[in-house]
Amino acid sequence: MAEAMKSLFPTMSRVRLWVQIVMLFVTVWGASVVGHYSAEKISDALPALSCAYDTQNGGYCVLVPLQHQVHHRVGTALVKAQEVTLKVLLPLAMTMLTFLAFFFVLGKAFCGWVCPLGTLQELVQRVGRRFGLPLHAVAADKLGRVRPVKWLMLLGLVLLLPLLTGMGVTAHEFGNPYCDVCPSRLATTLLTGNTEEIALKTQSPLAFAIGALGNTLFGFIAVGALAIRQPFCRICPMLALNAVFRHASLARLVKRQHDKCEKCGICTKACPMDITEIHTEHGRKAYHDDCTLCGRCAEFCPDDDVIQVKLGPFALFRSSRDYYKKRMTGEMPDGTVKPVRIVRKSPQGGA
Ligand code: SF4
Ligand code: SF4
Ligand code: SF4
Repeated sequence: MAEAMKSLFPTMSRVRLWVQIVMLFVTVWGASVVGHYSAEKISDALPALSCAYDTQNGGYCVLVPLQHQVHHRVGTALVKAQEVTLKVLLPLAMTMLTFLAFFFVLGKAFCGWVCPLGTLQELVQRVGRRFGLPLHAVAADKLGRVRPVKWLMLLGLVLLLPLLTGMGVTAHEFGNPYCDVCPSRLATTLLTGNTEEIALKTQSPLAFAIGALGNTLFGFIAVGALAIRQPFCRICPMLALNAVFRHASLARLVKRQHDKCEKCGICTKACPMDITEIHTEHGRKAYHDDCTLCGRCAEFCPDDDVIQVKLGPFALFRSSRDYYKKRMTGEMPDGTVKPVRIVRKSPQGGA
């Protein structure tokens, strides 16, 4: 009797075997045995290897959706992320890092010393002075109205319109709106003998209108530079972009509070951007958003060490009375050149 009872006692191995057999039915023939709905609920709740290719079971192996997700979602997302990284983030980071590295050393000196359009406007202006054309300084009240335009150009033409075009909100002609009207594009390509950039585009009325606007602006800048110093610089988005980081750069203009400043205003007369703050202010306010770090204010300041052009802790140039005297022999602060006296030799050899 005891032996018979002993053989009926369910060992764990035996229980396990029964469970295995039941689950084998559920996972292999589950749908036929307990109905599709119940079998699916049971096998879904288990990390089962209930094969999806077996049409008689209730659910499917968790590895199927896992592979599916990895294949169609994670893989695609990684490709997209790689695409975004390679096509958007890296180029953007490289552009910004190059700009920041360049800017960290040169700062606004890019405008005053490097930019081709800045140089060309100065050269045209010199021609105007040489031919005695009147120079028009931009009055302080008008400056107040012009100064915000560079920020609108940066936000509207360089950032917002390209973004909206990329999102499909605005027409594709607005993908590069700043480049389309940039006078530097036309000036520098023309200087290489390339006339394609100035030719009007006829793909669409909008492209034609934008091209015509760019050419008109270029004409105004070319003629305007004869009478007004640096006309385009005043609305240039690069001036605004440089202004954002100007205090982070090694190169900068320094005017400390100084008893030596006579408030003579010659610095503003010499300034190609008509910056009055270099005359009236000191410290951070004197180094204005619009400054191109050309250094003319320091050159023409008649007082010793009032204005400095600095690179890090080093003063590259300090205003000095001696330098001022020499500088004034060739050119007036407003850029007017002293007339060249042409001395004709008399036939006898005398002057
Ligand atoms: S303000 Fe613009 S156009 Fe003028 S020098 Fe700077 S980058 Fe060139
Ligand atoms: S030129 Fe020199 S001394 Fe005259 S106002 Fe400007 S900073 Fe002062
Ligand atoms: S403030 Fe001085 S350095 Fe700056 S743009 Fe005017 S003249 Fe040039």
